[in-house]
Amino acid sequence: MTRQRRLILQVMDNAEQHLDVDQIFERAKRIDSGVHLVTVYRTIELLKKQGLIDELDLLHLRGDRHYYETHGPRDHIHVACLKCGKVREFESRLYEQLKSQIEKDFGMKVTISRTEVGGYCAHCQTLRAREVEEVRMLTLDAEKPAARTPKKRVRKS
Ligand SMILES: [Zn+2]
Ligand SMILES: [Zn+2]
Repeated sequence: MTRQRRLILQVMDNAEQHLDVDQIFERAKRIDSGVHLVTVYRTIELLKKQGLIDELDLLHLRGDRHYYETHGPRDHIHVACLKCGKVREFESRLYEQLKSQIEKDFGMKVTISRTEVGGYCAHCQTLRAREVEEVRMLTLDAEKPAARTPKKRVRKS
């Protein structure tokens, strides 16, 4: 079990993004071909209980999938784009202050905190604006023939 644990943690530490169980399994298999999916599931559950990794749903951008990351020294806020699914991490002293305020107000030792922010990244905002514009043009095009019907204007000279 210890060996599996070390393997999974190694995979997660080397990850450049948030991984789901299948991705963790794929990467673990590349290091140790003898690893089983069941073991990966069991190890993740264990690491989660021990507070060594965090489970995220990342605003359900990809349905019910869960993602995992090792618990770093500082908490970060996940900022996700609802269109392209890009997830970025944001760290701030303000966030640390907010947590200490909560600890003070509630006399509590905060061990877990999760904040996820969703919206549209700069790239997707441009895309969206273009899409809206395209729809507007299409609607205008659809209206045009009606507007173009010749009006009968009889001129008498
Ligand atoms: Zn985006
Ligand atoms: Zn993260």
